[in-house]
Amino acid sequence: MSLKQAEILGVNVNSLTMVQAVEKVQQFIDERKNALVATANAEMLMRATQDEELKHILNNADLVVPDGAGTVWAANYLGVEMPERVAGYDLAQELMREAPGRGDRIYFFGSAPGVAESAREKAMELYPGIKIVGTRNGFFSEADEPEIIAEIKAARPDILLAALGVPKQEKWLYKYRQALQVPVAIGVGGTLDVMAGVMQRAPLWMQKAKLEWLFRGLKQPSRAGRLLALPKFVMKVMASKK
Ligand code: UDP
Repeated sequence: MSLKQAEILGVNVNSLTMVQAVEKVQQFIDERKNALVATANAEMLMRATQDEELKHILNNADLVVPDGAGTVWAANYLGVEMPERVAGYDLAQELMREAPGRGDRIYFFGSAPGVAESAREKAMELYPGIKIVGTRNGFFSEADEPEIIAEIKAARPDILLAALGVPKQEKWLYKYRQALQVPVAIGVGGTLDVMAGVMQRAPLWMQKAKLEWLFRGLKQPSRAGRLLALPKFVMKVMASKK
């Protein structure tokens, strides 16, 4: 299956549905590919315009899904049809839902101490029979990295969900992808926080009205500055249209 791509502010984002994204990730697992999957929202794409390393990583990732209404809008505006939003949180849930039937092993890496463990309990409740083969919090120094890599390798996950925040998770996964020997690694931002109940997702009506970004900005006032990322993104995309 070859996928269409939209080039948004210099980053190639795949155009696909949630069902196709799940299929693609499962194909990576079956091929044991060491694949890197990124979930690109407007904030990440804006960041990539100022961070060459992040841009390079995204353009060399095996799959970049359109996470967020802003990304879907930009692709459509630039003339590449994007069927729907594929949010990182939702993609992770779909993969976990199908994991017990397929026997996929999953590792939770990231977030504050205790969060990955609570997220594991939640996953076991939601997806009976799921194999969460390891957890590790996302606060560490460089000296801890060899041990973390060894731990992940020894747990032999099929899917590594890394919740270290953008761009740390993308940079970390890219740097260590050979060493980790994991078929699929996905940067999932706040997913473990949401699963553990530390952070809330926007109510469904707000997600449907494409207002999740607004909910986040209001919920985390310290990050209200991030709200500006969306209008800035829209203007930049408009200016980039040839
Ligand atoms: N995080 C982490 N290590 C760090 C910084 C952040 O594990 O050094 C975790 C943080 O606890 C949170 C997740 O990364 O669970 C996402 O953080 P943030 O909301 O900053 O991510 P973004 O919105 O940039 O994806």
